[in-house]
Amino acid sequence: MVESPFTIGRPVDLTFTDAEEAFRAECRTWLEANVPTDPLPSGDTRDGFTAHLGWERTLFDNRYAVVSWPVEYGGRDASLWEWLIFEEEYYRAGAPQRVTQNGIFLLAPSLFEFGTREQQDRYLRPMAAGEETWCQGWSEPDAGSDLAAIQSRATRDDAAGGWRLSGQKTWTTRGAFCTHLFGLFRSDPGAERHRGLTYFLVPLDTAGVTVRGFGRLDGDEGFAEVFLDDAFVADDQVLGDVHHGWTVAMATAGSERGLTLRSPGRYRAAAHRLVGLWRERGADPRLADDVTRAVIDAEAYQLQTLATVTRLARGDKPGPEASLTKVFWSELDVRIHEVARRILGPDAERADESWMKSYQFALSGPIYAGTNEIQRNVIAERVLGLPRR
Ligand SMILES: Cc1cc2nc3c(=O)[nH]c(=O)nc-3n(C[C@H](O)[C@H](O)[C@H](O)COP(=O)(O)OP(=O)(O)OC[C@H]3O[C@@H](n4cnc5c(N)ncnc54)[C@H](O)[C@@H]3O)c2cc1C
Repeated sequence: MVESPFTIGRPVDLTFTDAEEAFRAECRTWLEANVPTDPLPSGDTRDGFTAHLGWERTLFDNRYAVVSWPVEYGGRDASLWEWLIFEEEYYRAGAPQRVTQNGIFLLAPSLFEFGTREQQDRYLRPMAAGEETWCQGWSEPDAGSDLAAIQSRATRDDAAGGWRLSGQKTWTTRGAFCTHLFGLFRSDPGAERHRGLTYFLVPLDTAGVTVRGFGRLDGDEGFAEVFLDDAFVADDQVLGDVHHGWTVAMATAGSERGLTLRSPGRYRAAAHRLVGLWRERGADPRLADDVTRAVIDAEAYQLQTLATVTRLARGDKPGPEASLTKVFWSELDVRIHEVARRILGPDAERADESWMKSYQFALSGPIYAGTNEIQRNVIAERVLGLPRR
């Protein structure tokens, strides 16, 4: 729909088509009628997770769970533009967080790109319906930023036609509640670090898998450690090629950092709420510039996303540019919440739990999906072409 805003001398058409606006109206009407009026308990608690899955089921039954997916997997075959519109309307309506996000936003794009037809048929529909829920098994106690340092092993079991997985994963978001894990394992210990890795799809009820949930600073049991002890997975649970898991993982990371995990609707809605809060609390002129900056930055992210979607709609991959996006959205989120905290003053600790809860989560944005220090390294080396030293 749009040309890159960075193209000099060419007009940029930022208007959506009539059909896209009709889709927006349809989404808005449905969301206004169906979004739960009382907020659900946190999706990072056991009860909250179940309550959120009920909501995800409602989305799925009405074909709003995964609008851009093919109809056969529960989608509407909507374009990326329409997906963006849906996301905008979703956040505008204040709809619940998506507890299926690691499946539908991270794994699914890689399943579409690297999965066999059988894998797509097997996994996508239950994922969209929230019947099977996915967590990300990448980080290990001694491998976070340096993901290629992972030590969890995949050992070939020819007789059984598959692999035996052993090791420990950590920081597994909502791992205590999910049914499946997608993870990276070292399948060729003799190969160069990035080469000998394989990407596996693992049901968490597999014999030899133990999941231990643990609490976050905010009290929710949002994380898990996952221990694997000779857990068997069949060959058809490998995503992509054996020993080429790094390529698949980088594609997943592109979705996580670049577009699908954090769409601009989230930050535009938060900036809009911030303006409301500022007005309600006396419109302190000393904070006007900070509130304005939050709105402008959220709009800038929207424009940048239009350029990203233009690239993707042409068939490009997110690429290392996804790191630019990740630094921007995570730092924007922190800034929006810090301004909210200053507006609320001492009340921030007491009165407005929703802002404080999301502030605490915003603080983790520069860490998860790859820390911002690492993203800056990627930008320096792979986007700007600067030397490593
Ligand atoms: C809310 C949240 C959810 C998460 N969910 C998941 C999940 O679902 N699945 C999963 O697998 N992981 C998850 N993680 C883990 C996350 O991916 C890691 O925390 C992250 O990659 C950093 O790894 P680390 O914690 O081991 O820190 P380290 O890698 O030990 O880094 C410590 C510090 O050193 C800096 N640093 C390290 N290397 C360099 C370098 N080369 N140059 C400059 N600075 C460097 C880092 O930026 C960081 O500030 C989650 C984390 C958080 C906070």
